[in-house]
Amino acid sequence: MGGNPARKTFLPFARPCFDDKERAEVLDALGSDWITTGPKTLKFEKELAAYVGSRYAVALNSCTAALHLALASYGIGEGDEVITSPFTFCSTVAVILHMRAKPVLADVDERTFNIDPEEVKKKLTRRTKAIIPVHFAGQPCEMDSLLRIAQQKGVKIIEDAAHAIGAEYKGRKIGSIGDATAFSFYATKNLTTGEGGMLVTDDEELSEKVRILSLHGMSRDAWKRYFAQGSWYYEITQLGYKCNMSDIMAAIGIHQLRKLDSFVAKREKYASYLDRAIARIGHVTVPYVSADLRHARHIYPLLLNLDELSVDRTKFIEELRSENIGTTVHFIPIHYHPYFRDALGYKKGDFPKTEALYEREISLPLYPSMTKKDLDDVVSAIGKIVGAYGKK
Ligand SMILES: *Cc1c(COP(=O)(O)O)cnc(C)c1O
Repeated sequence: MGGNPARKTFLPFARPCFDDKERAEVLDALGSDWITTGPKTLKFEKELAAYVGSRYAVALNSCTAALHLALASYGIGEGDEVITSPFTFCSTVAVILHMRAKPVLADVDERTFNIDPEEVKKKLTRRTKAIIPVHFAGQPCEMDSLLRIAQQKGVKIIEDAAHAIGAEYKGRKIGSIGDATAFSFYATKNLTTGEGGMLVTDDEELSEKVRILSLHGMSRDAWKRYFAQGSWYYEITQLGYKCNMSDIMAAIGIHQLRKLDSFVAKREKYASYLDRAIARIGHVTVPYVSADLRHARHIYPLLLNLDELSVDRTKFIEELRSENIGTTVHFIPIHYHPYFRDALGYKKGDFPKTEALYEREISLPLYPSMTKKDLDDVVSAIGKIVGAYGKK
């Protein structure tokens, strides 16, 4: 298209949002005698559990680890099946394969991008042991239907809530609904500790198992070696992993959590602003939000009305890039990745709704530190591109 870009400097797709609170707490951790899992991690766990309304929380180094250890703790393995969405990040499916269980994908609802409970029903077998719903973009899945299915079939619900901290379903916080919920604190997420994750649950036995597995399979009492009453002796009681959270990460998390509601409120406000301004442009579809819930607005998934445009999604992203607007795509369908295609035996055409959404989706910048001008630049860049390529 050429000409002057919508803005002079590049607007990144995502940006973390810290202030002196995080910085002071990290310095406090560095100045203390304990920098790995310790008092700050325990405090972060306690405060996060209270925030989401769960009884137990185990801080880990990623959401991937939280999902993995939940499956391991439930004893899910060879011969078992786990149903999840094809419209997710690779790790949701990778952890199932790491446990030598079989991932079974069920297509999404085209309005919410979330797993469709009717599709889940078609995929249930005697071997199904768990369902991993992914709350896409921060919009809760249809939990009532999924819980009903899980209860009838005796399978576990392990929620991939990487996008959904702060979200609510019918007045209940995500983290207080399924058997276990995994959160991500990756750099771009609504609450970040750089890298990090948390597994929350009301099941004490599950939380104990996850905690032990996260630290080499050391006996529970070994944890006391972290504190004054600890001793040198520990026992390895099972084959574990190493994915605990450090107090340096937790120092960041404690303050991110306290600001989370204000972060989400800003995301809601900015998303509504984008909804109104972009809807006026036409040729694109703004995100659908269901009633009865609080959407965490982690991602703003714009959909192109491809039959009204003479460009495809890839070209539209290039044009946004030349307008100095950073974007990305959520998600490349699981079965389009060569590894999963070959390992799972799925092919193009197996998940038509996921595939159609993928062709049309662009994730726009949306985060609390954006200014009104940033938002307006995004809108005017879209307006400019639609002006050049929109069919009359
Ligand atoms: C980011 C993300 C993950 C992985 O989170 P990590 O903390 O990086 O392991 C898992 N699932 C979804 C849907 C994600 O977006």
